[in-house]
Amino acid sequence: DSIIRTQGLTKTYGQGASLTQALRGVDLEIERGGLTCIVGPSGHGKSTLMHLLGGLDRPSSGRVQLDGQNMFDLRDSELAALRSRKIGFVFQFFNLLQSLTARENVEMALMLAAASETRQKERAEELLELVGLSDKINAKPGQLSGGQQQRVAIARALANDPPVLLMDEPTGNLDSAAEAEVLNVLEDLVRQGKTIILVTHSAEIAARADTLVRVRDGVICHD
Ligand code: ADP
Ligand code: ADP
Repeated sequence: DSIIRTQGLTKTYGQGASLTQALRGVDLEIERGGLTCIVGPSGHGKSTLMHLLGGLDRPSSGRVQLDGQNMFDLRDSELAALRSRKIGFVFQFFNLLQSLTARENVEMALMLAAASETRQKERAEELLELVGLSDKINAKPGQLSGGQQQRVAIARALANDPPVLLMDEPTGNLDSAAEAEVLNVLEDLVRQGKTIILVTHSAEIAARADTLVRVRDGVICHD
């Protein structure tokens, strides 16, 4: 049972002399549940692939099915709605709001999902507990270590309880101890049935993958 399936996915940036073919035909099936790592050299199309899997950008050609739905048959507004139900995003540089506490950063995502205030509070606490930060709910990002900030970002990504988490180098800015903390959280989430797809340069994380996808020159490389 695959949760994401791509067919003939291509992506071209620019035109004329500055044309770049970032993806040249990607056919990929990702099973429901488990940790999938996308690896490969810089500039070979990994981030582009993640953006398309998450519907953050549209392909030049080809299809992405998410839970059986052809994402790019949808209009922008429908695509945005599907994305917010089905996918949580985590980025390398956390992207937390510095003036808000951990709890408020998570509540912000719940507010966007139109949860009641009481529900937002409860759920934010629940999510921060899940990532092991119960004692930091009132701390602002500047008072937290990198590993802690990334765990807040993961809690925020889980706000709508999406089945899929997409992460672009989530430990790229962390030392190995913080990376291990984040990896523990990811493994908990996989045990709870989440599908996690992440781009990584970390051999430690890639070694824990259920599925390894190698991208080279804009295609999936099978060895
Ligand atoms: P990776 O994630 O493997 O480093 P990317 O998907 O970021 O690779 O990039 C693949 C290729 O597409 C690179 O040649 C990069 O320069 C180019 N590229 C990526 N994003 C853009 C963009 N927004 N505009 C133009 N070129 C881009
Ligand atoms: P972690 O649990 O992520 O490994 P550390 O052991 O690095 O955290 O940090 C211990 C405590 O010191 C953390 O609870 C945090 O409050 C604080 N701390 C760590 N790094 C930073 C930082 N770069 N800026 C502010 N506070 C930090």
